[in-house]
Amino acid sequence: MREKYIVGNWKMNHKQEDISKFFEVFSKTTVGKNCHAWVAPQAIHLPFVLELSNKKCNGKLLVGGQNCCYEKSGAYTGEISPEALKDIGATFVIIGHSERRAIYKEQNSELCKKSSAALSCGLQVIFCVGETLEERESGKTEKVIAQQIIEGIKPLDKKSLQNIIIAYEPVWAIGTGKTATPSQAEDVHKFIRTLWEKEGLPNAHDLIILYGGSVKPANIGELMAQKNIDGALVGGASLKGEDFSALTIAN
Ligand code: PEP
Repeated sequence: MREKYIVGNWKMNHKQEDISKFFEVFSKTTVGKNCHAWVAPQAIHLPFVLELSNKKCNGKLLVGGQNCCYEKSGAYTGEISPEALKDIGATFVIIGHSERRAIYKEQNSELCKKSSAALSCGLQVIFCVGETLEERESGKTEKVIAQQIIEGIKPLDKKSLQNIIIAYEPVWAIGTGKTATPSQAEDVHKFIRTLWEKEGLPNAHDLIILYGGSVKPANIGELMAQKNIDGALVGGASLKGEDFSALTIAN
């Protein structure tokens, strides 16, 4: 049985008090035997979350960033250094979330540079891809996703690709309450795995592909039952300890 990865993207949410409450609940949770639980708090909270995770969770919750700079360190005021992320104990970073693409106009070429910097610092990269509603309705889903992978991932050093995870997040399903049906999600995940192989990228079979878009305790079961879905990237339902625990227990 393939392992599952449940990754909480906390976005720009939470005060320290909310995070403490999350840990009060999550620290008592027994995560499923096959499941890896990860969270990405906003950068300012990383040291606090890492401390709580180390003290209360004994390694059962890994912590990562939501974004990083395309350079390891240097004169980039306001940016997040991937080298510093690794140094404080983060293990992964999310790159190319649809909010970064849409609001901050991040392009595949820049996302490729960010991924390269993060990988070279020893971080795992969760690289997000996904189509808008308009793109889906005009039959462009596969074309858009292929372009995101070919421009964002393919130029990377092949050896480092074992540390890349893909998150398929249809933009129309993020934060909208509309989830892709399990078969819609499975079709795209299967497409990604096939594309990976066709493009000569290594270990297509082992590539971890997460689904994201309004995942919650009520719908995670049928999504995770799909052959090519290896986990979930979860926004809203990862914020409260109760919901996140339910997602990780279920897997
Ligand atoms: C996300 O932000 O990556 C996400 C999938 O959000 P939500 O679960 O709230 O749709």
